[in-house]
Amino acid sequence: MDIALTHRLSFKQASLTVLVAFILGTLLSLIQVGVDYASQDASINREVRALLDVSHNPAARIAYNIDAELAQELVVGLLRSPAVIRAEIIDSANVTLAGASRPAADSSLRGLSDFLFGHMRVYEEPLYIEHQPSESLGVLRLDIDTFVFGNDFLRRAGMTLISGFIRSLLLSLILLVLFYGLLTKPLVSLIDVLSRHDPRSPTRLRLPCPPGHERDEIGVLVEVTNRQLSHISVEMEQRREAEDRLTQYLAELENIVAARTAELKAANARLTLSNQELDSARQTALNMAQARATFLANMSHEIRTPLNGLLGMLGLALDGPLNPEQRQQLSIAHDSGKVLVELLNDVLDLSKFESGQLQLETIPFDLATLVEDTANLLSQNAAPAVELTCLISPQLPAQLAGDPTRVRQIVSNLLSNALKFTRLGRVDVRVEAQADGVCISVRDTGIGIAEDALQRIFQPFTQADAGITRQFGGTGLGLALTRKLCEAMNGKLTVSSKPGLGSEFSALLPLPSLAPAAPVEPLRGRVIAQCPASSGLAELLQSWLPHWGLDYRRLDIDASLAGVELDSLISDCPDCLVGLRRHLPDIPVLLVTAYGSFLEADMAKRLAPLRQLARPLGRATLHQALRQALTRQANPAPGAAHSEQPEHYSTRVLLVEDNPVNQLVAKGLLQKLGCQVRSVANGEEALAALQQEAFELVLMDCNMPLMDGYEATRRIRENPRWAGLPIIALTANALPEERERCRLAGMDDYLAKPFHRDEMAAVLERWSQANGNGNGNGA
Ligand code: ADP
Repeated sequence: MDIALTHRLSFKQASLTVLVAFILGTLLSLIQVGVDYASQDASINREVRALLDVSHNPAARIAYNIDAELAQELVVGLLRSPAVIRAEIIDSANVTLAGASRPAADSSLRGLSDFLFGHMRVYEEPLYIEHQPSESLGVLRLDIDTFVFGNDFLRRAGMTLISGFIRSLLLSLILLVLFYGLLTKPLVSLIDVLSRHDPRSPTRLRLPCPPGHERDEIGVLVEVTNRQLSHISVEMEQRREAEDRLTQYLAELENIVAARTAELKAANARLTLSNQELDSARQTALNMAQARATFLANMSHEIRTPLNGLLGMLGLALDGPLNPEQRQQLSIAHDSGKVLVELLNDVLDLSKFESGQLQLETIPFDLATLVEDTANLLSQNAAPAVELTCLISPQLPAQLAGDPTRVRQIVSNLLSNALKFTRLGRVDVRVEAQADGVCISVRDTGIGIAEDALQRIFQPFTQADAGITRQFGGTGLGLALTRKLCEAMNGKLTVSSKPGLGSEFSALLPLPSLAPAAPVEPLRGRVIAQCPASSGLAELLQSWLPHWGLDYRRLDIDASLAGVELDSLISDCPDCLVGLRRHLPDIPVLLVTAYGSFLEADMAKRLAPLRQLARPLGRATLHQALRQALTRQANPAPGAAHSEQPEHYSTRVLLVEDNPVNQLVAKGLLQKLGCQVRSVANGEEALAALQQEAFELVLMDCNMPLMDGYEATRRIRENPRWAGLPIIALTANALPEERERCRLAGMDDYLAKPFHRDEMAAVLERWSQANGNGNGNGA
């Protein structure tokens, strides 16, 4: 490493030392010069005084003798002294006896010398004789040139200063050499070794200690540096090892990543390929499902229309005079037809699920009434020893938002299963409001389901065991469909069952509430129920009668009513009533019986005032019957308040249907229900008929020649005269879009072909203006 001379430590140290020595030397030289100056200054006076002392006596004698010649010799003699430039002897009369002079020396140093000692000094020595010192003989006067002394002094002073400077110069050179040898050179050698060493090289560096410096600061510096270097090299070594390991790991990792990437690429390629295959398979499957669904929808339409005719005709034939054998044959044909229709519906629905075509609508509906209506329709399937009860919670919202058709399907499937598999005991349909929707549960005391079959039964075409079809019939589609429907509504279907004890199916449906439970007209009176505590009737009455404000109590069948105060009695035991009438001749009695088990007319007459109510007991029917019994407004003739006679709706109906068979079936059904029917074959004829006659209800087929049902309905709705006229669509296409289309055209309700007598009756019940004319058990 090359360091400039002025930056070298030795130079700096030497120059500092020399500077100090120079200043000190100069100071000392100056002091010496000062002292010399003072002594020189004094020596001028001393020398002149000595000269005067020597010349005093001769000069005094010359002045005493007034010897001008001697006087002249003396002054010339005095001029020989180098410092004297003028000598005079002046007598007492101030006359110059003799005088001599010469010019002062000239030199470049003259000015400085004059400055220090003055230009000239004048000395006057009074002349006298020794024994007469008081008598003045004259004066010896000398003019002294100080330059003679000043020149000496200046030469000496110059020598002193120059020698001091040369001393300092020599000293600094010596020191520079010494410091270089002692400090700079060993340090430079260390620096050289350090700078030549590559810190990345694996060899360990050890600095050599310059000879003679083992014990001084340089020695310590070398030792400490060696220690640090050793630490550093150990650390470097460790770091190098770690780096080597890391590099190795990285290399391994890169290899692994490369291998994985290659694997992933291969897998990805395989996946992409299989995805493409899957996509195309899915597309094919979807297309096939779509094609199947379309095919099924079309087929179902094509099958339903003739089936409708078939069932309608069979129904009409069954209502006519037949011998028992014919009746049985036709009944079997009718039942088989019904099974076929149900099967067709289920298959259609399932295929819709599979093709993703099933669409749910969201409209307001009254779930409680829907459940009661469904239970009513299915009650005819209940075995005589089965008590079917609808237990609606009083807190259930009056209106929910959902798809009423599909909810009805769920209730209907669960309930028809429960009724099918229960021969004895109870079947309860319970509807309760829950925090996040409603729970519809159907509980029965039927044959139950084995543990291992509980999951299986939700598979399509699967039943709990092989004997079921033989014994009970069925296809195994109902539950699969019901579960899918629940899931489509974001709900779930659960089951719990014990073989031999019964089953409970619960559908939890998150249907939003649109209107809270509607307030009911309160009733007043004391009502006693005579029924077993374990009956569905007891449970139903207990939940509703206190809710309506009634003073209600239940007694067992065998409990005596003697002395009991009451305004009305509810019972499900006809036999108990005979003895009872003796104690309570006038108390109105409500007798709850199974479907089709009303009392004979004369028996009912004997037990009057009596009103017979068929199970399942609807809330509205019960409320109305109690109101009538308690206010005694209605005291119907014995036997008049039950359904032994067919329902009778004297409604004037316009039937618009192009298919002659369907027309015949619908007309026959309507007439049987007491309606006056006029049939027309298309929309145009319907409009003409409406112009001519007043109708209370229109049953409108949708697909007809000339003018279809939608167009006809739109035309009818355009005329304010028929604004309130109920128009019910008759269609074989059960898809929701079809319903929506009917609704948009202006139709009020919908009846899917083929329809049952009960379904037709329900529509009449709902829409007939002669609603109150019916004497059915509906409220
Ligand atoms: P299906 O009733 O037409 O056979 P489902 O899918 O409705 O078809 O029912 C499947 C099976 O589940 C029935 O065959 C029956 O074994 C069993 N099951 C359904 N409901 C009940 C019930 N309430 N009690 C006993 N078993 C039942």
